[in-house]
Amino acid sequence: MMRQIVVLGGGTGGTLVANRLRQIFEPAEAQITVVDQDDVHVYQPGLLFVPFGLARADDIVRPRRRQLHDGIYTVISPIESVDIETNQVHLEDGITLDYDVLVVATGAVLVPEETDGLLGPGWNENTFTFYNLEGAGALAEKLASFEGGRVVVNVVDMPIKCPVAPLEFCFLADWYFRERGIREQVELIYATPLDGAFTKPAASNALAGLLEEKGVELITEFNTGAVDEAGGRLVSYDGREVPFDLAVIVPLHGGAPYVSRSPGLGDELNFIPTDDRTLQSRARPNIFVIGDAANIPASKAGSVTHFEGEVLCENVRRFLAGDELDASYDGHANCFIETGFKKALLIDFNYDTEPLPGHFPHTLGLPLLKESRLNHLGKLMFQWFYWHTLLPGRDIPGIPSAMPRGGKSVPAVATNE
Ligand SMILES: Cc1cc2nc3c(=O)[nH]c(=O)nc-3n(C[C@H](O)[C@H](O)[C@H](O)COP(=O)(O)OP(=O)(O)OC[C@H]3O[C@@H](n4cnc5c(N)ncnc54)[C@H](O)[C@@H]3O)c2cc1C
Repeated sequence: MMRQIVVLGGGTGGTLVANRLRQIFEPAEAQITVVDQDDVHVYQPGLLFVPFGLARADDIVRPRRRQLHDGIYTVISPIESVDIETNQVHLEDGITLDYDVLVVATGAVLVPEETDGLLGPGWNENTFTFYNLEGAGALAEKLASFEGGRVVVNVVDMPIKCPVAPLEFCFLADWYFRERGIREQVELIYATPLDGAFTKPAASNALAGLLEEKGVELITEFNTGAVDEAGGRLVSYDGREVPFDLAVIVPLHGGAPYVSRSPGLGDELNFIPTDDRTLQSRARPNIFVIGDAANIPASKAGSVTHFEGEVLCENVRRFLAGDELDASYDGHANCFIETGFKKALLIDFNYDTEPLPGHFPHTLGLPLLKESRLNHLGKLMFQWFYWHTLLPGRDIPGIPSAMPRGGKSVPAVATNE
């Protein structure tokens, strides 16, 4: 019997899942349909490099359809809603899709309009974000003519995509202003809602040390209540103010808005309550969730999305076969952290183990929690792997989906609670 598998979102997770499922199911067994609102696939880690002239928008964008294997149907239309009672997806262009299995891969969206003062007349004048193509391009122009002043990088609130990206922005800004010979004229400030530079203690200490080394002031527990673009200041809920000449904002994130029009599917932030081991939604057993759309306690990162793919696709197969689900997704995340001057740090962790020193994926691999040229090359090479290995649904040779322990100095107490 031909099954209908509908994948909502054709970004990182939707593309790799559709391609993997096409390999698992014969064309006569399952029709696979991917829905996305546009045909523009952005390699989002590349957005970090655009403001500094290290990448152009053209370098990081490809047509979505070309990333999907033959035998996968694509529909380009915004999603209107999902009816979990009737197993139907309604699209804005009037089409209705029936499904036996639904995979939600609609990621996280930026909601700057939720913060007082953002998107005012100073937006893309003295207040920017590099979290989308338009913002990253506008910021590149601004930085090229910037002659000095206070540059404040601010995360409004968690969760955000790639929680290390704003730190990487600070490190690259230090490098960029030094290259231009104006570092003395620039004050760099990082204002975060967290109580340290990062969420995980060992990595947080290492990253705070790097900020200090590079002369970036760290302001913690700063919960941004408003951005006064005209007055050039961030105001926190507890009344603190941080003045700026140039603000680089990572706005609030939420799940895709159609989730709020789909009764029973999502939570109040429009993320989807999901089992963090099987990736099955809590809404219905025939709905699975991959990537940033899920509310699980893993980082919102492409690496996480990639590592989830294997378990999720296996569970779609098991669900349709009536078998018990595989509960082996361990929260594995792996992030290269660009630190400027052609160096990068690497962190690798999961739900139970925080980022630790050592080597990845084994004793002769890349250094962990330590700046190195090799890690920088790894960060650059990742773009090639993204288009040619990860999206087509292949495994990266030598990199398992579950967090590798060999090579790590794993003390008995190095676990997250
Ligand atoms: C600046 C930046 C730097 C990053 N750096 C890294 C990094 O170095 N390493 C790393 O691992 N990760 C990084 N990430 C995170 C990574 O890009 C995401 O975690 C990953 O893309 C998540 O995949 P996804 O499939 O969940 O979402 P996405 O890839 O964002 O895909 C979601 C898709 O859903 C579609 N969609 C949404 N709503 C609708 C709708 N209503 N109708 C139709 N379609 C819809 C969107 O158009 C999109 O194509 C970075 C992200 C940013 C922004």
